[in-house]
Amino acid sequence: MIYDNVVIGSSISALGCILGLLKSKKKILCVDGANLNDITTDQNLNEKIIYCNQNLPLKNFKFNKKSDHNFEPLEVLESKSFGGLSNVWGANSLRFLKNDFDEWPISYDILKNYYEKCEEVMKVSHFNDDISEEFKINEKKIDESKLNLYSDFIKVFFSEKKYDKINLISGFSRVALNPDAENCSGCFFGCGHVFNTKDYFKKLIDNKDIVYKENLNLKRFSLKNNLIELEFDNPNKEKILTKKLYIGAGSVQTPKIVMNSLEKKVDLNITESQYYLFPCFYMGKDFNTDLNHHTLSQAQIVYKNNIKYKLGNVCYEVKYDQKLMNLILEKRFSVLHKLIPNFIKKRIFVITCQINSKYSIYTAKIRKDDQEFDIFENKKNKKKIKKEISEQMKILGKNFNFFSLNIFSKLGNFGRGYHLGASLPMLDENEVDQKSFKSMYTKKNGEMAQYKNVFIIDSSSFTNIPSGSVSLTVMANALRIATESLND
Ligand SMILES: Cc1cc2nc3c(=O)[nH]c(=O)nc-3n(C[C@H](O)[C@H](O)[C@H](O)COP(=O)(O)OP(=O)(O)OC[C@H]3O[C@@H](n4cnc5c(N)ncnc54)[C@H](O)[C@@H]3O)c2cc1C
Repeated sequence: MIYDNVVIGSSISALGCILGLLKSKKKILCVDGANLNDITTDQNLNEKIIYCNQNLPLKNFKFNKKSDHNFEPLEVLESKSFGGLSNVWGANSLRFLKNDFDEWPISYDILKNYYEKCEEVMKVSHFNDDISEEFKINEKKIDESKLNLYSDFIKVFFSEKKYDKINLISGFSRVALNPDAENCSGCFFGCGHVFNTKDYFKKLIDNKDIVYKENLNLKRFSLKNNLIELEFDNPNKEKILTKKLYIGAGSVQTPKIVMNSLEKKVDLNITESQYYLFPCFYMGKDFNTDLNHHTLSQAQIVYKNNIKYKLGNVCYEVKYDQKLMNLILEKRFSVLHKLIPNFIKKRIFVITCQINSKYSIYTAKIRKDDQEFDIFENKKNKKKIKKEISEQMKILGKNFNFFSLNIFSKLGNFGRGYHLGASLPMLDENEVDQKSFKSMYTKKNGEMAQYKNVFIIDSSSFTNIPSGSVSLTVMANALRIATESLND
């Protein structure tokens, strides 16, 4: 069977791409490696969380783990499920800042309209705050009705803010949250109020907007005259050929599919924005501890000007989740956690930050021979990050009335930030010196330089991984790639 368009994956990139392709009215086949009816998150296990080897928590979900006791972040990233990682993601959906695109061949302005469309689809709200001012959000797009889903803690936290806008922007978190999510409390554990692509795909399949084939693992593709032939890991009776192929198998699987497809194999580099977590203690005014608020990120703060070391924009997320905090304290201090009085416990919260992949501690290579990872540590970057971020945290503490418990802070190992990619970076084809650039890349329209009509729609084609949420940009960029490809 020959299709006009085949999209690989059923997660955020695939959805963005399909929304763009739908405008063409041509037939779209969507292929996913997972089973449509596979239950990836067990609602009965709602309150269970699992821990990685750094003792950092994750909502329980079905994926292949080597150990029963803890998991490796790369195992999560390699997993396959209907809806992909949108089944377990934290739903933070902040746009990248203008200067995050400095090294990209596309600018913020090119993505602006696509961002707006994707925010509508994911139900991300904007509020009357500095974040909206930074992005010049149209007043008509500001909707404060969702603010009743935010905790009293964060409202008090912001009521005391006093900072210099040259260095910082801050605001209520932009999260992909259903506006009907009243009395939510428990999003971290996977309540149905967080946007996931599964529900959207089910509608597309039911409406026959797309043809969907489950349980097909793309192994490699090859060019056959003007068509692309797909080869799967598992047997598929039907031969599938397509005019255009859009790969959104995620930051780890996509480069592996590309590596399998090469006649002359090469190693591929993969980078990650650096994750850093700080437990913090709030010292400001008292607040109501009513648990009926959403438990995703409550606020986002971007530190724009570095103090000692260049790290680019650093995006911080403020997380306030008392249920989760209790579980973590119990894990850490066992029964002794009961000795911590409630008026202390209620003031403990978490700040996480992500740092642009250019300054990360770790980089990795996927080896061409066995597709395993070689991970490299950059000790100089580690020192710089520790110093710069602790200075920034001190200033944030002064501005927002808290101190961080640095002794319990955690610098994420490779993979733990879950924001990976740039293995097939998007470059300006006019500026690439073909002789000296030995690796693979994509052109700014998302098409692989070496393969006509093969498009990389996930973060594998990002030029680098900026600080903060990647998925909104993944979706907006996939929508752009698909929309632009209709003009070919
Ligand atoms: C715990 C956690 C929290 C996160 N929180 C956030 C957050 O708050 N904000 C944010 O922006 N991002 C977050 N992320 C990252 C976010 O989930 C990813 O950026 C996003 O899901 C990427 O979407 P994707 O379409 O590129 O790929 P994925 O979500 O990885 O999906 C890949 C899809 O491809 C399918 N697939 C894989 N291989 C094959 C194959 N060979 N053949 C066919 N199909 C295949 C899979 O089944 C899946 O459907 C988080 C991730 C995790 C794990």
